[in-house]
Amino acid sequence: MAKVGIIGAGLAGLTLASRLAGTADVTLFEKARGVSGRMATRRAEPFSFDHGAQYFTARSQPFQDFIAPYVERGLLADWEPHFLMMEAGKAPLTADKHGPHYVGVPHMNAFLKAVAEPFSILLECQIARIEPGEDGVVLLDRDGTQHGPFDWVISTAPAAQSHQLMPHAFSGHDALDTARVMGCFTLMLGYHRTLSPEFDGLFVEGSPVGWIANNASKPGRDGPASIVVHSTNEWAEAHMEDNPDEVARTLLEEASNLTGLDLTSPDHQDLHRWRYAFVTRTAGHPYLIDPGHRLAACGDWCIDGRVESAFLSADKLAHALSEQL
Ligand code: FAD
Repeated sequence: MAKVGIIGAGLAGLTLASRLAGTADVTLFEKARGVSGRMATRRAEPFSFDHGAQYFTARSQPFQDFIAPYVERGLLADWEPHFLMMEAGKAPLTADKHGPHYVGVPHMNAFLKAVAEPFSILLECQIARIEPGEDGVVLLDRDGTQHGPFDWVISTAPAAQSHQLMPHAFSGHDALDTARVMGCFTLMLGYHRTLSPEFDGLFVEGSPVGWIANNASKPGRDGPASIVVHSTNEWAEAHMEDNPDEVARTLLEEASNLTGLDLTSPDHQDLHRWRYAFVTRTAGHPYLIDPGHRLAACGDWCIDGRVESAFLSADKLAHALSEQL
């Protein structure tokens, strides 16, 4: 059976692992402490926050089929959110968005934790180099440990990181260089007191804040009030290296002004900086494959910056690989 090494255990990496199971011997390498990538959850008992993806759509039949067993098991559910949208300084309006709007239950990362169960995953293992050789492709992690050789290696890291990792010979470098993924700050706020936002999700324009979620309104979240504030990508890019306390202060003040809620003095506060969050320019191909060097890459940055695109990119690559394995 062909040996396949997959870098990244977000949705793209785990989709590949699922699709190749039975035809390949798959090992995943993930630099973080857990799986899920940007479909992440941050817990700080008794609070929890989906600090990456907020919800996702499943419009394509393959993705609907993929998630169906997890919906059945109660690990995914339709949020059925009440969305508002507003321009800073103006009154909010109801936003019509076609659902379902899926979320993991009881946390966003519950879905991919379940998908990951059958697979061999090396966590806290950051791949630093990919080295094609005569006997196959070898991976070197940040501690200098060698993994492999593999018959195929696939990177699902964001485009800029895949660009750094892939050896010079990889045919997809131009496409990797084309993709642009912008940053985002996430402010997580927890309160023991009752907050009564008029919205479950608020889209904002004309402010450093782009989105505010009443995280506790998602299904299966029984904990106290938890609010997730996302900056816009443009604001994050302009303030990427700013003092985190100042970033948090700005987002907190803006969120209070926009919502009219007193969000000051939270019982819990945390800020996360996403260096790579949203795709603003795609690689222009649904996946990248180089059969000559037995290397490939895929992820949301191939199609557009959404959960469903990460799935579709990996699903299409898995079809292409099944003809090669
Ligand atoms: P990732 O989830 O980024 O997975 C890549 C994995 O590779 C990561 O786990 C990373 O740790 C790992 N990795 C990287 N480099 C290495 C290395 N060298 N060695 C080992 N491992 C490595 N999408 C929606 O559809 N709806 C939303 O509401 C939404 N909101 C979002 C909000 C935020 C703040 C962010 C950040 C994203 C949001 N998205 C949303 C986008 C969505 O999260 C992504 O499209 C999707 O999760 C991408 O999946 P992926 O597998 O392609 O990449």
